[in-house]
This record gives sequence, structure tokens and C-alpha cells, in this order.
Amino acid sequence: MEKEVVSRNFIEQIIDKDIEEGNCETVCTRFPPEPNGYLHIGHAKSILLNYGLSQQYHGKFNLRFDDTNPTKEKTEFVDSIKVDVAWLGADWEDRLFFASNYFDQMYEAAVSLIKKGKAYVCDLNADQIREYRGTLKEPGKNSPYRDRSIEENLELFENMRAGKYEDGEKVLRAKIDMASPNINMRDPIIYRVAHMTHHNTGDKWCIYPMYDFAHPIEDAIEGVTHSICTLEFEDHRPLYDWVVREVGYEHPPKQIEFAKLYLTNVVTGKRYIKKLVEEGIVDGWDDPRLVSIAALRRRGFTPESIKMFVELCGVSKAQGSVDYAMLEYCIREDLKLKRPRVMAVLDPIKLVIDNYPEGQVEELEVANNLENPDLGSRKVPFCRELYIDREDFMEEPPRKYFRLFPGNEVRLMNAYFVKCESFIKDETGKVTEIHCTYDPETKGGNSNDGRKVKGTIHWVAAPTALKAEVRLYENIIDEEKGVYNEDGSLNLNPNSLTILKECYVESSLADAKAYESFQFVRQGFFCVDSHDSRPEAPVFNRIVSLKSSFKLPK
Ligand code: ATP
Ligand code: MG
Repeated sequence: MEKEVVSRNFIEQIIDKDIEEGNCETVCTRFPPEPNGYLHIGHAKSILLNYGLSQQYHGKFNLRFDDTNPTKEKTEFVDSIKVDVAWLGADWEDRLFFASNYFDQMYEAAVSLIKKGKAYVCDLNADQIREYRGTLKEPGKNSPYRDRSIEENLELFENMRAGKYEDGEKVLRAKIDMASPNINMRDPIIYRVAHMTHHNTGDKWCIYPMYDFAHPIEDAIEGVTHSICTLEFEDHRPLYDWVVREVGYEHPPKQIEFAKLYLTNVVTGKRYIKKLVEEGIVDGWDDPRLVSIAALRRRGFTPESIKMFVELCGVSKAQGSVDYAMLEYCIREDLKLKRPRVMAVLDPIKLVIDNYPEGQVEELEVANNLENPDLGSRKVPFCRELYIDREDFMEEPPRKYFRLFPGNEVRLMNAYFVKCESFIKDETGKVTEIHCTYDPETKGGNSNDGRKVKGTIHWVAAPTALKAEVRLYENIIDEEKGVYNEDGSLNLNPNSLTILKECYVESSLADAKAYESFQFVRQGFFCVDSHDSRPEAPVFNRIVSLKSSFKLPK
């Protein structure tokens, strides 16, 4: 118990204290995405953090679309966000909200501020407002419109709402303090005129609330107790607190900031991903090279692996960036005992066993996962003609090469020992066929006479193997040189995608469904591509290779 208390993260400590001191009874958190793009791994952190806290404290978790800005929002994004949040396991139950449904209450809140003398209509234009705002070093100046009467402000604000002004002609500002050391408190704009059609409210409004005014009200209306956001809002917290206090909410929510999740040398910003999509450099928002949640899902990541990753990252106020290798570690850990290990040949070369009877097929019983007997076993056909990977044969091997070469004996995984007797080359000098003999006494992969072999290679039976396409991925960024070029463009890796068109996989994979994943022995973890795979022409994405340089920090 003692230990658990000590290791609680700073957000849990704040909530514990709030409960202890009676500031809140039950916890309510929310995830508030702006529907202007697809969610990425950073959002996953926020989702799992907010949802996790609601579960831990037996509270509630809301999904709320922050759709107060009528310009950029799209239904496509609303739909994709719902899919992603649900896939991560964050259950909002019946609490799916849209901030735009609170426009009436926001308007009322603004009116109440005017009535208290805490807000005024200002006629300065954008440039003038900037000029009057002052700088970090110098205080701002009061707007000449700051002392309008309450009656005049009420009338002008009503006129703003009624559409009597052009965009930018007038704004409503909070009346706080133009000399505040915090620039956010220098009479911030809380409503602006914008003659735009909103996807939800249509043409009902031609004034829209600003984020800093809208967000605390949204939280307060929903009874959110802890409004968790990222560090860039820390300086906005005094304004958040001002809004909920002045509007007079009885149980004001509390804003808590944590550091954003960044991955080293990985593009997460919506703006850059959008560019990659629009320029056709990637194949949509879910291209498996991206780290949008849709892309990670398509690549073959699981919700469990992302959860493990987020937990390993922890929550803190310290800005930092995490290695992609840690994400890879998590998916390996998640899949290694859960998924079957099968044989697949990515760069095939034919191997013929000259002393194996023509036309004979043996069904070998093979364990699906040696480390997890619960996954059972399957039958794998074995016959005279097989495919093996080209890199498992060498005409002239270097020292310490223990795979197939003329005169050498190796183990065909789960099957027999074979010895390379000869090989055939085409006119270009490329090896096209390897001839071997097998030892029938070594069935299952062990000899009776104590004879040992150093190499074990995988294979598939040529007549029954399923031809497949395999896609191998590297970081879309050329990591040697960093994410951006001098001109601000992305520094792309030309080898981020390799497509292998002629691979062969075990026939047992014929029934594999979209998103299903496998370990291809010696090669990595692979997942059925949800866009392009067809039963007769399967496509596999490599999720991650087997080797890792990543060590879990102690
Ligand atoms: P981006 O700038 O990366 O496109 P955003 O912040 O504009 O993201 P929003 O839809 O506004 O995206 O964010 C929804 C929530 O997700 C916010 O609470 C935000 O703080 C959080 N969030 C966004 N990016 C990250 C990140 N990298 N790590 C953790 N939380 C994040
Ligand atoms: Mg945003």
C-alpha cells in the first residue's frame, strides 16, 4: 500500500487530494478532440490516460468533440475518431457530446459576464488588438471601448449575434487586466463574428466562442472534475479558472497539464501528415508507415501494445521524446505468446529433395507456438519440392555461415535434415534451384545417431504454398539527417516501403482475416493488410522484425 502511494503519478496525487479534501465526490474526465484530422499515438496517450483515471476512480469518461470552430471540421474525422477511441477500449457509454450543442449556454454565459461588467464589445481590429496587447516585457493598454456601459454592451453583443456586423468588425472581450504579466489575461477575445455555416448548427450562429472561453464551459456543463490537457495550455489555466469562476459554476472543473508524447524522428503533427497524404507520398491517413491510430491498427499494432507503451512512457510535466523502438518492444511483447508462429519465405528459391519420393506428401504436426502450448498445433505439408529463403543458401559461404551450402547439412525446421548436393544457375549466374538429399531418420528435426547440425532454416512446400505480397516498412523519415530539411520540408526516406510480390506462405494462412497477425519465424511479426489483402492474393504488412536493440529501462 505504502509503495503504491509513493509511485502514484502527479495527476493521481492531485485527484487523491481532491477526493480527500472533499473537492469532488466522483471523478469525471473527458477526451476532447477537434474533428480536424485523424488521431495519432499522442492522442492515444491522452485517451488512455483520461479513460484509465475514470476507471481507476470508478468515475466517468466522456468523449466530446470540440467542434466550436466551423472552418475545418469534417464528419469523416468524427467517424474515424469514434472508431479509434473505441478500438483503444475507452468506453464513453452514452456520453458522446458535441461542444457545438452548448452554443446557447455559452452565449448565455457571455451575456452573464456582460451583466457583471466582466465583458465588453470592442471595435478594435485584429492589428490594433495585437498592438494594444503589449509584450512579455511591457504591459498592454486599455481598449478605448473598455468602458462601454453594460446596456450598450448587451445591445452590441445582441447585434453581433443578429448578424449586423461583418467578420472582424467587433469582438466580445473578457474584462480582466491589460497589465497582467500573463498575456492570456489581457482582455482576451471570447466571441468573434464569423459568417460561416457550422456542420452541426448550420446557419444558426454567426458568432462563435473562442477556445479559451468555450473549453472550460464545456467541461463545467458536463460535470468534468479534472480537465486534463497538454502543457501548452499551462499559461491559459488562469483564464480557464477565471471563466469557470466568473460564470459561476458551483463545481468548477480543474485543469491539469501534462507533457505531450513525442516519438523521436517520427511525424505526428496533423499538418505534416496531411501534407504527406495530400501529396500522395503515403497511401492515406492509415498508411502503415504513419503513427496515426488507424495506421498503427492497419500495420498490426494491438490496443494492448499501445496501452503497454503509454504506461511505460508514464505521465509527467517534463517534455521529452520516446524512441519508436519502445513501441516495437511493446508489440513484440504483446504478440509473442498470443500469436501462432508460421513459416513464410519472402525471397524464394526452390529446393528439391532428390531422394524424397515424387508425389508423396507428409503432414507434419507442428506446434503453433513453442512457448505457449495453449495455441495447439497444426498440420504442415512436406514434400519433395520446397521453397526456402534465398539468404539461407550460399554458394561460397564465409566462415561461421551455418546455413545451406554445397556439402553442408542443415535442419529444415520441424522436418528433416537435408544436405546440399548441387545447385543450378541460370545464364546470368543466379542460383535457381538447390538439390539436396534428406535423411528419413531425422523426422521432427533430430537424428538418432547423435549427429548435430548448426543451422535450422524455414521452408514451405512448393505445390501447396500460398503466394503472397509482403510489405516491409522503414521509418518514413531519413533518421540519419533528422525530421526536417533546412527549408522546413520533411526529410523523407526513399526506402520506407519495400514491396515483395512473390513470397510464399504456409497454406494454413489461406483463411487469415484482415488485421490477423502471425509471427513468420525468423522474420518478424506480420499482419493481414485490411485494405488490399484478398483470400486468393493475401497481403501482409510487417509490423516489426524480431530483433531489437531496445532494453527496457530499469
Ligand atoms: P496535433 O497538434 O498533434 O494535431 P491537437 O492537439 O491539435 O493535435 P486535438 O484534437 O486538439 O489535437 O487534441 C485532443 C486532445 O489530445 C487534447 O487534449 C490534446 O492535449 C491531446 N493531445 C494532442 N497531442 C498530444 C500528444 N502528442 N500527447 C498527448 N496528448 C496529446
Ligand atoms: Mg488542436
